[in-house]
Amino acid sequence: MGPALEAPGVLEKAMRAGANAFRINFSHGDNQQHGRYLAMIRAASEKLDRPCAVLADLMGPKVRVDAREYLLPEGGEVFLVPKPGRPDHGEVGISFPALAELVSKGQKILLDDGKLEIRVLSVSGKRVRCAVVRGGELKPNKSLNVPGVDLGLPVMSVKDKEDLRFICKSGFDWVAASFVRNGEDVKSIKRFMAKLGYNLPLVAKVESAQAVTNLRDIITSAEGVMVARGDLGVELELEQIPTVQRNVIHLARELGKVTIVATQMLESMLTSPRPTRAEVTDVSTAALARVDALMLSGETATGKFPIEAIQMMDKTIRMTERNLEDEIVGITHPESLANICEAGLYLSIISGAAVVAAISIHGTTPRILSTYRGNLPVAVGCTLPAIANRSTLYYSVQPLLIKPVPSAETIFKQVADHLKTMELAVKGDVVIFVFGHPIHVPNGTNSIRRWEVD
Ligand code: PEP
Repeated sequence: MGPALEAPGVLEKAMRAGANAFRINFSHGDNQQHGRYLAMIRAASEKLDRPCAVLADLMGPKVRVDAREYLLPEGGEVFLVPKPGRPDHGEVGISFPALAELVSKGQKILLDDGKLEIRVLSVSGKRVRCAVVRGGELKPNKSLNVPGVDLGLPVMSVKDKEDLRFICKSGFDWVAASFVRNGEDVKSIKRFMAKLGYNLPLVAKVESAQAVTNLRDIITSAEGVMVARGDLGVELELEQIPTVQRNVIHLARELGKVTIVATQMLESMLTSPRPTRAEVTDVSTAALARVDALMLSGETATGKFPIEAIQMMDKTIRMTERNLEDEIVGITHPESLANICEAGLYLSIISGAAVVAAISIHGTTPRILSTYRGNLPVAVGCTLPAIANRSTLYYSVQPLLIKPVPSAETIFKQVADHLKTMELAVKGDVVIFVFGHPIHVPNGTNSIRRWEVD
């Protein structure tokens, strides 16, 4: 989400084009803007009657340059200083006063996700003198990475804590945590939210060498994981990214957690209405691996062709999915209702069903159904808008808002009518319902029903 989607009607176009989850990046803007974006997404989602997940992405322990514009001359020199920089004095202001204590001559420092590179020449007090290896324009608030050096920053800054208070109170659906290093980092953010009285599901962003080392620990502790290839490509060598992506996807699938692949998926569409073949293939590769979500960043936040980028991604995912083999991934869930979900999926295959449908209160049944990666759409009748919104992030899940009537039969009919309106089913199609009897009991999923659409 960003300025490119702000003009009247554009968000609705984005949703019609296929966007069903939005990230609001707390590394940019202030809470007034974040709140306004959230309200805009909710308004468009209600108007179109399309549930949408909104994910609040915490800045995390990231060092940034200050809010000025700089031009770093290739072959020249700059000073990094922990106060507002003075561009005319060759000074760049940074947000991390201890940098001078942690670097020495020869250390590589990358700016703006690696677009610019400088190397330390000398350190004097809190000033770090650097040679510009790869120069250019340095835009406000861009990132600063020191590959291979643990800067020892706490996983939540004062800003992150304030942002989390705002995020929880404002009703975001998911939180993404940047630069987590291990499972304990994830747990400490969850503990902080619990103290505030909330338990939003958390996506851990894998974007450092340390996170790659502690993958299982991190993914086990979180509800989801993001392959954040922007920072990952700065912290690791670029050629390591595909292997890390594959490992994250495999592990998250084994553990039944949400997976998001992010960054530079259709990067050239920032300025061009058509992507490269390689980018389209990258999108397709992630879809082939059946990740839960593919994320665009600058393409839709500030790019010139945001709607075209979403359409391109949507078309590519649909085309790829058309050619996927039937697959039900065996996964061991601690939850007992998983057996019913798995049985429902098998029944849907042998009965040639058009859709698997769940009735869910807290979103557990659709979450589990999605982890088996079946080929059919999973429609979910939800009575709570917050659960419907959250569930759009799950693989192949299509939430539908239903009225909380006591009769299961009436609910099946409501869901079937929705499916017809959405052209997911037609008269005569079979829908397999996975639900709880009695209905509307939390974690009560214990039944399967074959239903013919009339
Ligand atoms: C990334 O680094 O790829 C990422 C998604 O994080 P951010 O956009 O916050 O840099």
